[in-house]
Amino acid sequence: METNGKFGDKEGERVIEEIKELCNKSPKPFDAMGHQVNKFDADELALLLGQDSFGRPVRDDVLTILRAQIRLPTVVTISHRGMSCWCCGNKIPLYYDGKKFFLGTPCPYPDGIPLSVELNIPSGVIMVTDNLSPAFDVERIPEKHGFYDINYDIGRVRFSRLMEEVGCAFLCVGQSFPGVYRLDSKHFTIARYGYDDDRGELHPEGILVASIDTELWWCSLVRS
Ligand SMILES: [Zn+2]
Repeated sequence: METNGKFGDKEGERVIEEIKELCNKSPKPFDAMGHQVNKFDADELALLLGQDSFGRPVRDDVLTILRAQIRLPTVVTISHRGMSCWCCGNKIPLYYDGKKFFLGTPCPYPDGIPLSVELNIPSGVIMVTDNLSPAFDVERIPEKHGFYDINYDIGRVRFSRLMEEVGCAFLCVGQSFPGVYRLDSKHFTIARYGYDDDRGELHPEGILVASIDTELWWCSLVRS
């Protein structure tokens, strides 16, 4: 095999297949540093190596290292573009030290991003529905690239805070079709009922007084 980075696509594919085989045979630990990223395995590694603009020499290095099963004196950069975190939205470089794979920087939100919203409701009447963002004209606010990218937790939280400023509690609830439950004369909770794969049957407290059709994956609360 050539080691100067000049091998063609077929050779590159063969190298990646060998890397996958070696990784499957002897899986290495992976430290995500608190980020929420794809499950890291041989396939993910092959994907990263295949996509990286520095892929060819890196593939070569990784193959040599994995074949030799050695502890490296220095850290090898596997992917400069790295893995995307669903929570903080950052792309973090991936490194390998001969013993484990790890991401370069810790996630600023290892426990998720807390979000609470306060609404002023002098009338005491709240309207609850799906996506009310078009009604508030917030889409016209100039945005940094990706700042409100709702594919990431950080973008959804920023969007929720933006909506709070214009008087709407706006929360991403997925396609969960939650219900509104009255806990007492002053308190309500919005929760999902039914069945959840991870948590089993869900029976929120309180009396069900409304349900929200979340076709657009959001829940909006405004004063009536
Ligand atoms: Zn993160």
